[in-house]
Amino acid sequence: MTPRIGVLALQGDVREHLTALTAAGAEPVPVRRRTELDAVDALLIPGGESTTISHLLRELELADPLRARLAGGMPAYGSCAGMILLATEIVDAGAPGRAAIPLCGIDMTVRRNAFGRQVDSFEGDVDFDGLDEPVHAVFIRAPWVERIGPGVQVLAEAAGHPVAVRQGAVLATSFHPEVTGDRRVHRLFVDVVAGWA
Ligand code: GLN
Repeated sequence: MTPRIGVLALQGDVREHLTALTAAGAEPVPVRRRTELDAVDALLIPGGESTTISHLLRELELADPLRARLAGGMPAYGSCAGMILLATEIVDAGAPGRAAIPLCGIDMTVRRNAFGRQVDSFEGDVDFDGLDEPVHAVFIRAPWVERIGPGVQVLAEAAGHPVAVRQGAVLATSFHPEVTGDRRVHRLFVDVVAGWA
């Protein structure tokens, strides 16, 4: 069965993830409204700006339905801004009223713009648990993970912090695998979704 994977299409690098998911063997569909969210097996939350995506989630009344689907066990993958939104707690979430919303997909505390205070963007090869060769990771004003709960597995680290994590069927990376042409992280997500159904 080909999993129907939604890509939250409010802001950010939606098209790159649609392309990567297709290449990884899924049937990706953009998600902008409640009915579209209800129809997918899993959801990918792209990179972009977590405060902007959160603002649109509030405007479109999608935050609560999305949190409810995650609480109900929907598989998900968040990259960069998407990692921030999948957290249970966000440090430096943004100005009150405009802050990034924790959707609670993974029991973790994430620091928004963590690397950004040192250097805005950088790239490097990181070892990724379960993959034979390192992943070339592109970090763009990226978050890192500051705390993980007991059920959370660290898949990759950089600068002494987790930058790829998994809890059950929910994955998150600080970096952007959709920009490198390496489809292994998307394939991992598609495999997780297929195995979960
Ligand atoms: N700094 C951005 C945020 O707060 C994330 C950057 C990204 O997704 N590339 O959402």
